[in-house]
Amino acid sequence: MSAHYQNQQLWVEDQGVAALAERFGTPLYIYSKAAIEQAYQAFATPLQGRKHLICFAVKANSNLAVLNLLARLGAGFDIVSGGELARVLAAGGDPAKVVFSGVGKTRSEMAQALKAGIHCFNVESVAELDRLNGVAAELGLVAPVSIRVNPDVDAKTHPYIATGLKENKFGIDILMAPDAFRKAASLPHLKVLGVDCHIGSQLTQTQPFVDAIKRLMELRETLAQDGIELAHMDIGGGLGVTYTNEQPPKPAEYLAEMLPLIPPSLTLVMEPGRALVANAGLLVGRVEMTKDNGFKRFVILDTGMNDLMRPTLYQAVMPVLAVNQSQNQGPMSDLVGPVCETGDWLAKDVPLSAEEGDLVAIGGAGAYGFVMSSNYNSRPRAAEVMVDGDKVHLVRQRETVESLWAGEQLLAE
Ligand SMILES: *Cc1c(COP(=O)(O)O)cnc(C)c1O
Repeated sequence: MSAHYQNQQLWVEDQGVAALAERFGTPLYIYSKAAIEQAYQAFATPLQGRKHLICFAVKANSNLAVLNLLARLGAGFDIVSGGELARVLAAGGDPAKVVFSGVGKTRSEMAQALKAGIHCFNVESVAELDRLNGVAAELGLVAPVSIRVNPDVDAKTHPYIATGLKENKFGIDILMAPDAFRKAASLPHLKVLGVDCHIGSQLTQTQPFVDAIKRLMELRETLAQDGIELAHMDIGGGLGVTYTNEQPPKPAEYLAEMLPLIPPSLTLVMEPGRALVANAGLLVGRVEMTKDNGFKRFVILDTGMNDLMRPTLYQAVMPVLAVNQSQNQGPMSDLVGPVCETGDWLAKDVPLSAEEGDLVAIGGAGAYGFVMSSNYNSRPRAAEVMVDGDKVHLVRQRETVESLWAGEQLLAE
């Protein structure tokens, strides 16, 4: 975790969180540059000397400064929309290192990505093969493709973030994949580059990854017999992180199990999202008031589910860090927000003695945090800052209330 206590106060690198909250206001997302760099190197170092491409899953955190930092470290990007492609380009990312995932790519998104010259389309259905072939034909281009295979393995994670089972909408069933590859190989404006899978998110065991890769390797054999040679294998993202008590393998441990299964002649593509940024981020809020209804104590913050949806959406348990360390003890409390929804909570049953005016941070907020935030209840979205040693950069201004209705109009009459 990027945050640490020093003299009972919470710090990110060489910046005190209380001073940052004072200067930039709350709610505030704080990212540590060093933590992102370290997380990236944890993947890149074990891959040295091997053909590889680490494509950061942009949906986990699409702030331009985060993307720019990763681009400078050499990362590619896994995108799921034309909007994300535009962000990657605006952040200085290399289109030749971009893979494009997602089940519902529009024709215009396909054209945008073809013109940009992305590395590969991760195709998720036979209908998409036809559509992409048509769009590439109109442009007089050839689209590089990988087929996303659904290997039917149980990722043993929350059902909303498991993607590799037969019942999920993602990918092409592994039994139907050879036909899809034959079709792709036969279409004149497609070029088969590889195979990919992404079996789920926040995985804390390596076995499901191993099972998936073994199935992909068998598929590769089958395809080779048909004369379809693959240049790369994309094993997706999904490696879990420690929020509270989880013990996922470290990137080096995970890679040590994966690499022997994949021949070095294949370029290894990976799409980590959470593992690169989750623990580089904090969300800081200030206590507005507390209340005890005789049954439960509530600590009501100025931030809630509109800023950080993971607890509400996935029943995610995220670490609570009182900015004053001594306040991490006290009566069991629910940490809730001001949004008018019963589901608006950030943590349940945590020991916390914070009172009005005190600051509380949620750890692990660098992934699927700001990107999922909304303006529900007409709440302007939080500011984002990135700490770099003793420096701090405002990387997204706090929204103003007026900006929330900038595109709206009163009736003309
Ligand atoms: C979300 C997603 C990822 C990243 O998942 P993490 O669990 O954040 O590593 C990678 N690839 C695809 C296709 C995704 O949808």
